[in-house]
Amino acid sequence: MNTSILQPTLPTYQNRPPHPSTFFPEFKHCKTKKHILQIHTKLIKTGRIQDPLASAELLRFYALSDPPHRDLRHARQLFDEMPQPNCFSWNTIIRAYCDTNDALESWVLFRKMVEFEIPNKFTFPSVLKACAKMGRVDEGKQVHCVVVKYGIVNDGFVLSNLVRMYVMCGAMDEACVVFGLGVLSSGLSEVVLWNVMVDGYLRVGDVEKARNLFNQMPRKSVVSWNSMISGYAQNGFFVEALELFREMQMEGAADVMPNYVTLVSVLPAVSRLGALEIGKWVHFYAVKNGIKIDPVLGSALIDMYCKCGSFEEGLRLFNALAQKNVITWNSIITGLAIHGRAMDALDHFTKMQQSRITPNDVTYISVLTACSHAGLVDKGLSIFSQMVHTDGLIPRIEHYGCMVDLLGRAGRLQEAEELILKMPGGPDDVVLKALLGACKKHGNIEIGERIGKRLLEIAPEDGAPYVALSNMYASMENWDRVTETRLKMKQNDIKKDPGCSWIEVNGVIHEFIVADRSHSKAQDIYMMLEEMMQKLSLAGYKPDTTQVLLRMDDAEKKSILRYHSEKIAVAFGLISTSRATTVKVVNNLRICDDCHSTFKLVSTIYGRRIVVRDRKRFHHFENGSCSCMDYW
Ligand code: ZN
Ligand code: ZN
Repeated sequence: MNTSILQPTLPTYQNRPPHPSTFFPEFKHCKTKKHILQIHTKLIKTGRIQDPLASAELLRFYALSDPPHRDLRHARQLFDEMPQPNCFSWNTIIRAYCDTNDALESWVLFRKMVEFEIPNKFTFPSVLKACAKMGRVDEGKQVHCVVVKYGIVNDGFVLSNLVRMYVMCGAMDEACVVFGLGVLSSGLSEVVLWNVMVDGYLRVGDVEKARNLFNQMPRKSVVSWNSMISGYAQNGFFVEALELFREMQMEGAADVMPNYVTLVSVLPAVSRLGALEIGKWVHFYAVKNGIKIDPVLGSALIDMYCKCGSFEEGLRLFNALAQKNVITWNSIITGLAIHGRAMDALDHFTKMQQSRITPNDVTYISVLTACSHAGLVDKGLSIFSQMVHTDGLIPRIEHYGCMVDLLGRAGRLQEAEELILKMPGGPDDVVLKALLGACKKHGNIEIGERIGKRLLEIAPEDGAPYVALSNMYASMENWDRVTETRLKMKQNDIKKDPGCSWIEVNGVIHEFIVADRSHSKAQDIYMMLEEMMQKLSLAGYKPDTTQVLLRMDDAEKKSILRYHSEKIAVAFGLISTSRATTVKVVNNLRICDDCHSTFKLVSTIYGRRIVVRDRKRFHHFENGSCSCMDYW
């Protein structure tokens, strides 16, 4: 999110009290620290240091000069030696601290100040900024009390700094009260402050309140649009982010044209939804409007192309980019990895190091993922060792996840379990689930049972381990254990994650959930699903119900499978696009076995290419087989 708009506005030069250097012309030409020290010495020798105006001005130079000349130690010394610092000097020293790592000192000084002096409206911005920086809402409230005490509540400038302080501390209720007061009493209508409020709600994840406020804005700047779009994207409201982006373009006014920040904010949402057409448009827009495709925007575009199914486009853009940083390299390596192009990913990993770009932990996740998807166990092990021993990175839980996945798929389950035991802080549910899946695939019940039990301890509300465990017991014909597991699941009232799929048709995103009938073409879609199932069963297909919740009866299981969101999306894709078009669907969960085998058959029966992006990777279905080689 854009943090710069939360920076408090400090008083500008004209707003300050009369400039004392008019009385002391020598300050005007003062440029270096040495020069200040010379003046300081002269003032002491001549006794003019006793003049409050002279010492106040000297303090200002020490305290507020630009960094290399700033000297907080001398400033503090001079301030502490002042017999009776005036309001100007108090403000100076409070302001000097608010930018430092010792920002709380601003507040401590402010507390002292109010014992001797009446603060003025130039005092508050600095001390409020300090409270905001340290996230100290209680101290901020005390400052607020002083504001009220001295009747400065109607000053728009102080009010806006109060709002910022509360927003930065995440105290949105308080911020809202002060903001409302400001709007009512002093007609506080600057768009900047509205932006601060919208951004504040987004930071605490209250997307609805943010949007309400956004709608009420008397005027919206490009920053307003950008924060709302990126806020949606960052809080997982991808469809809303794209809708707002579209609205922004329709607004049409010259001052709300999408800019660089807009594009960078909207691209993650485009990628998540796999909305290739919109993504292409974003790229085209940048080129047409001379928006510089720097490594940040470039990486976002590469990421978008790869996640929208077109790694060839991603690669083309990558090769054309003049500037590449570590994020750019990571984007292309990840992109290749999720498309199963393990060798290309590894090749780019080598090229990256040849270009003297040091891989970071994200790079390693991508490379290890590539090895895992391609079953390159030894390569993966050697890369893991390079990461730890050569590059000195401390493996994160994600790296362990990749390694467990890699070893697990290859059936080296014991090694995988040993690795899990070595993990500092212990494994999380994702790692355990990966290993459990591997145990199931390789029929290793001994390790599977240990992992499954551990998983139930960590994540008792997750349905997957129950299903996996009970399937494992069923394959051993240990029916007591099967019943026991089912019962436990029932007691904990487990529901599976709601599946959700998206498909872009003519630049519009259509979203489907399980058994969704809300779409305007629902009737046609369901007729298509019926037809699909008939053709499939003629081709000898039987639904694979092993991954469905066990408490359902068989008919229920079959009908649930039939209406998985990805099947609905594919059916919609088949009826709404021409034969030559590839049907591209994005899924929020991992694709299930049944949908996977269904789509393989559908690709043959309908002669269509189908691409499904699930939570982990891409599946390109064509002529009855999948690019993942049934290994995902
Ligand atoms: Zn499915
Ligand atoms: Zn596949």
